[in-house]
Amino acid sequence: MEFEPVIGLEVHAQLKTRSKIFCGCSTEFGAEPNTHVCPICLGMPGVLPVLNKKVVEYALRMAIATHCRISPESRFARKNYFYPDLPKGYQISQYELPIALAGYIDIELNGHNKRIGITRIHMEEDAGKLLHDPDQSFSRVDLNRTGVPLIEIVSEPDMRSPEEAGAYLRKLRSLLRYLDICDGNMEEGSFRCDANVSIRPAGTETLGTRTELKNLNSFKHVEKAIAYEINRQKDVVMDGGQIFQETLLWNPDKGQTTSMRSKEEAHDYRYFPDPDLLPLMVDDDWVQQITQSLPELPDAKRERFSTAHGLPAYDAEVLTSSRELADYFESCLEDYSNPKQVSNWIMGSLLALLNAEGKDIQQSPIAPRALAALLKLIDGNVISGKIAKTVFDEMARTGKPPETIVQEKGLVQVTDSSEIEQIVQKVLARNPKEVSDYQNGKEKVFGFFVGQVMRESKGKANPQRVNEILKIQIDVSSDRQ
Ligand code: ADP
Ligand code: MG
Ligand code: ZN
Repeated sequence: MEFEPVIGLEVHAQLKTRSKIFCGCSTEFGAEPNTHVCPICLGMPGVLPVLNKKVVEYALRMAIATHCRISPESRFARKNYFYPDLPKGYQISQYELPIALAGYIDIELNGHNKRIGITRIHMEEDAGKLLHDPDQSFSRVDLNRTGVPLIEIVSEPDMRSPEEAGAYLRKLRSLLRYLDICDGNMEEGSFRCDANVSIRPAGTETLGTRTELKNLNSFKHVEKAIAYEINRQKDVVMDGGQIFQETLLWNPDKGQTTSMRSKEEAHDYRYFPDPDLLPLMVDDDWVQQITQSLPELPDAKRERFSTAHGLPAYDAEVLTSSRELADYFESCLEDYSNPKQVSNWIMGSLLALLNAEGKDIQQSPIAPRALAALLKLIDGNVISGKIAKTVFDEMARTGKPPETIVQEKGLVQVTDSSEIEQIVQKVLARNPKEVSDYQNGKEKVFGFFVGQVMRESKGKANPQRVNEILKIQIDVSSDRQ
């Protein structure tokens, strides 16, 4: 029997506001435990939360960017449960009336576009953090993170493969970063994802029973865990078994999931509207104002890179995957006017280099100016494309400008005919057999000669001039025979 996987994702994004959602404490990451706390985020009796306006603004940015319907009135509720990292005994979260509903984002996978529905976006506060030391028989509680603002973005069950889930997450993260509201760091936990997975017989519409996967702290783990879970469910069903709704924990070392708990139901949390917080009213003016303040978003930028810069769809996609990469590309164009050439060097050499060194574009050892300067040297026939690669590597290593490297290493391209002629003659004299092969009609040998001349010149000869001169010289030497 053929099965179709069905995937829906819940993403928690930590917002980059300076202070927490209901108090003035700092949200700074990595401070000494329990130094960014106050009676409000510690849940002392008698204190009152005050909503941080910036948090609402950031949530609205995301809501607008994902084409959501914005609720003119939304509410905060209490989600009640006990855990040592939750001093109040409840989490303040939006439940029945979230700030945004019914949006979507478009993802691209293998050249195909697909629209993924966003069910809702709501605001909530983060819990603290438990620190487990394996050498101790107790755990510690750090409440610095208590009250740090989050938005939860819940997708429709619209994804059909681990790769689609990966593409959706990447797009979501890229959007959050473009909007400058979340740093999107999965390893540090500022961008967290739970995956809901079910399967159903191909061609049917009813949703199967889902399991929920937790502890997915990298893109790779998300895709691997989902793939594992799909297969596990298929095996269970094929063996005549049944899927139970439960929460599963992904174990990255073992590459498998283990059961954590049976799935809780919403009514277990005894949600009720928080009496300490007023309903949140958002008016059209505010939405208008935020809409106008948004930067150019990835879809629009990609479109513009295709049309205005004439880039192929794939290039435009890669170059707009982050705002910083797109900015880098456009900075190069301020000094150098061939977009496709810039794109080739960024997507080829530069991204390979950054990848190998585990850096992102902001940490590029080669500034846009310098890359543009290198490309100008190629266009001006000062160096060949091949030598340019050597210069590029040297720029990355030393941080020197390309002109300096070319001078210091004597890499200037040889276009001078007499110099090339000398090399050509040397090569022809050294290879009499190949010369006669050529004369007997074996034209393929021409390529061999070009290669030899380039080598002899240490790659510095202008290839076009080499071809021209070689053609003349080889014919001359045949005439002599
Ligand atoms: P909960 O908090 O109980 O997990 P939510 O409504 O917040 O519920 O999230 C449910 C998530 O699970 C959504 O992303 C939704 O698309 C997804 N989902 C719901 N039903 C299924 C299903 N049968 N198979 C896969 N995903 C599902
Ligand atoms: Mg869930
Ligand atoms: Zn506080």
